[in-house]
Amino acid sequence: MSGPRERSRRDLLTGWFSALRDATGAARGAPRLKPEELLRPPGALKPDEAFLAACTGCGDCIPVCPTASIISLEREDGRLLPVIDPSARPCQLCSDLPCIAACPDGALIDPGGPERVRLGIAKVEPKRCVTFRGEVCRSCYAACPYPDRAILLIGGRPLVGSGACTGCGLCEHACPEHPKAIHVIAERNLVPGLRVPRDEYDRRG
Ligand code: SF4
Ligand code: SF4
Ligand code: SF4
Repeated sequence: MSGPRERSRRDLLTGWFSALRDATGAARGAPRLKPEELLRPPGALKPDEAFLAACTGCGDCIPVCPTASIISLEREDGRLLPVIDPSARPCQLCSDLPCIAACPDGALIDPGGPERVRLGIAKVEPKRCVTFRGEVCRSCYAACPYPDRAILLIGGRPLVGSGACTGCGLCEHACPEHPKAIHVIAERNLVPGLRVPRDEYDRRG
Protein backbone atom coordinates (compact mmCIF):
# COMPACT_ATOMS: atom_id res chain seq x y z
CA MET A 1 0.00 0.00 0.00
CA SER A 2 1.40 3.40 -0.84
CA GLY A 3 1.02 6.26 1.62
CA PRO A 4 0.95 9.96 0.86
CA ARG A 5 4.73 10.22 1.30
CA GLU A 6 5.33 7.42 -1.23
CA ARG A 7 2.90 8.95 -3.69
CA SER A 8 4.52 12.34 -3.39
CA ARG A 9 7.90 10.72 -4.03
CA ARG A 10 6.53 9.09 -7.17
CA ASP A 11 5.17 12.44 -8.37
CA LEU A 12 8.52 14.01 -7.67
CA LEU A 13 10.29 11.31 -9.66
CA THR A 14 8.18 12.09 -12.69
CA GLY A 15 9.06 15.76 -12.34
CA TRP A 16 12.73 14.97 -11.90
CA PHE A 17 12.94 12.93 -15.06
CA SER A 18 11.27 15.74 -17.02
CA ALA A 19 13.73 18.21 -15.56
CA LEU A 20 16.59 15.89 -16.39
CA ARG A 21 15.41 15.60 -19.98
CA ASP A 22 15.31 19.40 -20.26
CA ALA A 23 18.59 19.90 -18.47
CA THR A 24 20.47 17.39 -20.59
CA GLY A 25 19.27 19.20 -23.68
CA ALA A 26 17.49 16.26 -25.28
CA ALA A 27 14.57 18.53 -26.09
CA ARG A 28 16.74 21.11 -27.79
CA GLY A 29 19.11 18.76 -29.57
CA ALA A 30 22.21 19.59 -27.53
CA PRO A 31 24.68 16.81 -26.74
CA ARG A 32 23.75 14.76 -23.71
CA LEU A 33 25.86 15.61 -20.67
CA LYS A 34 28.06 12.90 -19.29
CA PRO A 35 27.06 11.96 -15.73
CA GLU A 36 30.65 12.40 -14.54
CA GLU A 37 30.53 16.07 -15.59
CA LEU A 38 27.48 16.95 -13.51
CA LEU A 39 27.99 18.69 -10.18
CA ARG A 40 26.95 17.56 -6.71
CA PRO A 41 24.60 19.89 -4.78
CA PRO A 42 26.05 22.58 -2.49
CA GLY A 43 27.61 21.26 0.68
CA ALA A 44 28.04 17.71 -0.63
CA LEU A 45 30.32 15.74 1.67
CA LYS A 46 33.91 15.27 0.62
CA PRO A 47 35.47 13.06 -0.49
CA ASP A 48 32.83 11.99 -2.95
CA GLU A 49 32.76 8.49 -1.46
CA ALA A 50 31.41 10.04 1.76
CA PHE A 51 28.65 11.79 -0.15
CA LEU A 52 27.74 8.61 -2.01
CA ALA A 53 27.58 6.73 1.28
CA ALA A 54 25.36 9.34 2.95
CA CYS A 55 22.98 10.37 0.16
CA THR A 56 19.93 8.13 -0.02
CA GLY A 57 18.61 9.79 -3.17
CA CYS A 58 15.50 10.83 -1.27
CA GLY A 59 15.28 14.00 -3.34
CA ASP A 60 14.35 16.30 -0.47
CA CYS A 61 16.92 18.84 -1.68
CA ILE A 62 15.22 19.10 -5.08
CA PRO A 63 11.82 20.79 -4.54
CA VAL A 64 13.21 23.43 -2.15
CA CYS A 65 15.52 24.84 -4.82
CA PRO A 66 13.83 28.02 -6.12
CA THR A 67 15.43 27.76 -9.54
CA ALA A 68 15.09 24.00 -10.03
CA SER A 69 18.85 23.81 -10.27
CA ILE A 70 19.01 20.36 -8.69
CA ILE A 71 17.78 17.44 -10.73
CA SER A 72 17.84 13.72 -10.13
CA LEU A 73 20.05 11.46 -12.16
CA GLU A 74 19.42 7.74 -12.38
CA ARG A 75 22.68 5.85 -12.45
CA GLU A 76 23.24 2.58 -14.28
CA ASP A 77 22.65 0.66 -11.05
CA GLY A 78 19.23 2.31 -10.70
CA ARG A 79 20.31 4.58 -7.89
CA LEU A 80 19.04 8.18 -7.93
CA LEU A 81 21.44 11.00 -7.17
CA PRO A 82 20.88 14.78 -7.03
CA VAL A 83 23.02 16.66 -9.55
CA ILE A 84 23.40 20.12 -11.07
CA ASP A 85 23.95 20.89 -14.73
CA PRO A 86 25.55 24.36 -14.55
CA SER A 87 25.13 25.00 -18.23
CA ALA A 88 21.35 24.57 -18.07
CA ARG A 89 20.49 25.70 -14.53
CA PRO A 90 23.36 27.00 -12.45
CA CYS A 91 23.24 27.28 -8.69
CA GLN A 92 22.17 30.76 -7.58
CA LEU A 93 24.02 30.43 -4.27
CA CYS A 94 20.95 31.18 -2.15
CA SER A 95 21.88 33.06 1.01
CA ASP A 96 20.06 30.51 3.21
CA LEU A 97 21.15 27.40 1.24
CA PRO A 98 17.73 25.70 1.53
CA CYS A 99 18.93 22.57 -0.28
CA ILE A 100 21.39 21.90 2.52
CA ALA A 101 18.82 22.58 5.22
CA ALA A 102 16.43 20.11 3.58
CA CYS A 103 18.84 17.19 3.53
CA PRO A 104 17.74 14.74 6.24
CA ASP A 105 20.74 12.45 5.88
CA GLY A 106 23.72 14.69 6.49
CA ALA A 107 24.88 14.30 2.89
CA LEU A 108 24.89 18.09 2.49
CA ILE A 109 26.63 20.16 5.15
CA ASP A 110 26.66 23.97 5.34
CA PRO A 111 30.22 25.01 4.49
CA GLY A 112 29.71 28.36 6.26
CA GLY A 113 27.63 30.31 3.77
CA PRO A 114 27.21 30.49 0.01
CA GLU A 115 30.60 32.09 -0.54
CA ARG A 116 32.23 28.94 0.78
CA VAL A 117 30.29 26.55 -1.45
CA ARG A 118 32.64 24.56 -3.67
CA LEU A 119 30.74 22.75 -6.42
CA GLY A 120 33.83 22.79 -8.59
CA ILE A 121 35.94 25.30 -10.38
CA ALA A 122 35.37 27.22 -13.59
CA LYS A 123 37.85 26.71 -16.40
CA VAL A 124 38.31 29.00 -19.39
CA GLU A 125 38.94 27.39 -22.78
CA PRO A 126 41.15 29.90 -24.64
CA LYS A 127 40.45 28.25 -28.00
CA ARG A 128 36.75 28.97 -27.60
CA CYS A 129 36.79 32.29 -25.73
CA VAL A 130 36.44 35.19 -28.16
CA THR A 131 38.60 37.49 -26.00
CA PHE A 132 41.60 35.36 -27.00
CA ARG A 133 40.84 36.33 -30.60
CA GLY A 134 40.78 40.03 -29.76
CA GLU A 135 37.01 40.38 -29.42
CA VAL A 136 35.28 41.99 -26.44
CA CYS A 137 33.11 39.90 -24.12
CA ARG A 138 32.44 40.31 -20.41
CA SER A 139 29.51 37.93 -20.01
CA CYS A 140 31.13 35.53 -17.57
CA TYR A 141 32.68 38.32 -15.54
CA ALA A 142 29.37 40.18 -15.35
CA ALA A 143 27.51 37.04 -14.21
CA CYS A 144 29.91 36.11 -11.41
CA PRO A 145 28.70 36.92 -7.88
CA TYR A 146 32.31 37.44 -6.81
CA PRO A 147 33.91 39.55 -9.55
CA ASP A 148 37.61 40.35 -9.20
CA ARG A 149 37.95 37.46 -6.78
CA ALA A 150 36.43 34.36 -8.39
CA ILE A 151 36.88 35.72 -11.89
CA LEU A 152 39.07 38.56 -13.05
CA LEU A 153 39.52 40.31 -16.37
CA ILE A 154 43.20 40.57 -17.21
CA GLY A 155 43.83 42.44 -20.43
CA GLY A 156 40.17 41.89 -21.26
CA ARG A 157 40.46 38.11 -20.85
CA PRO A 158 38.80 36.09 -18.07
CA LEU A 159 40.96 34.44 -15.45
CA VAL A 160 39.43 32.27 -12.73
CA GLY A 161 40.55 32.82 -9.14
CA SER A 162 40.81 29.28 -7.89
CA GLY A 163 40.65 30.21 -4.21
CA ALA A 164 37.33 32.04 -4.49
CA CYS A 165 35.46 30.25 -7.29
CA THR A 166 32.40 28.45 -5.92
CA GLY A 167 31.70 26.46 -9.09
CA CYS A 168 28.18 27.86 -9.17
CA GLY A 169 28.22 27.88 -12.97
CA LEU A 170 26.64 31.30 -13.45
CA CYS A 171 29.57 32.18 -15.73
CA GLU A 172 29.13 29.01 -17.77
CA HIS A 173 25.44 29.66 -18.16
CA ALA A 174 26.09 33.27 -19.26
CA CYS A 175 28.74 32.40 -21.85
CA PRO A 176 27.25 32.97 -25.32
CA GLU A 177 29.58 30.52 -27.05
CA HIS A 178 28.56 26.98 -28.02
CA PRO A 179 30.28 24.87 -26.88
CA LYS A 180 30.81 27.01 -23.81
CA ALA A 181 34.14 28.79 -23.51
CA ILE A 182 34.01 28.53 -19.71
CA HIS A 183 32.74 25.50 -17.87
CA VAL A 184 32.79 24.10 -14.35
CA ILE A 185 34.88 21.06 -13.50
CA ALA A 186 33.14 19.15 -10.71
CA GLU A 187 34.86 19.29 -7.33
CA ARG A 188 35.24 15.50 -7.22
CA ASN A 189 37.27 15.72 -10.44
CA LEU A 190 39.80 18.12 -8.90
CA VAL A 191 42.97 17.22 -7.05
CA PRO A 192 42.14 17.80 -3.36
CA GLY A 193 43.87 20.87 -1.97
CA LEU A 194 45.20 22.00 -5.34
CA ARG A 195 41.88 22.66 -7.09
CA VAL A 196 43.22 21.66 -10.49
CA PRO A 197 41.51 19.09 -12.73
CA ARG A 198 42.72 15.56 -12.04
CA ASP A 199 43.21 14.71 -15.71
CA GLU A 200 45.43 17.77 -16.30
CA TYR A 201 47.44 16.96 -13.18
CA ASP A 202 47.90 13.34 -14.29
CA ARG A 203 49.04 14.46 -17.75
CA ARG A 204 51.66 16.71 -16.18
CA GLY A 205 52.97 13.49 -14.66
S1 SF4 B 1 21.88 27.14 -3.15
FE1 SF4 B 1 19.81 27.67 -3.91
S2 SF4 B 1 19.98 27.66 -6.16
FE2 SF4 B 1 21.79 26.57 -5.35
S3 SF4 B 1 21.16 24.40 -5.39
FE3 SF4 B 1 20.73 25.19 -3.32
S4 SF4 B 1 18.60 25.84 -3.36
FE4 SF4 B 1 19.26 25.62 -5.52
S1 SF4 C 1 18.27 15.55 0.50
FE1 SF4 C 1 20.29 14.72 1.02
S2 SF4 C 1 20.00 12.50 1.01
FE2 SF4 C 1 18.25 13.37 -0.07
S3 SF4 C 1 18.81 13.35 -2.23
FE3 SF4 C 1 19.39 15.37 -1.46
S4 SF4 C 1 21.54 15.11 -0.81
FE4 SF4 C 1 20.69 13.05 -1.05
S1 SF4 D 1 33.89 32.14 -11.73
FE1 SF4 D 1 31.96 31.22 -12.46
S2 SF4 D 1 31.70 29.35 -11.23
FE2 SF4 D 1 33.23 30.63 -10.20
S3 SF4 D 1 32.06 31.81 -8.68
FE3 SF4 D 1 32.20 33.09 -10.56
S4 SF4 D 1 30.32 32.61 -11.74
FE4 SF4 D 1 30.55 30.99 -10.15
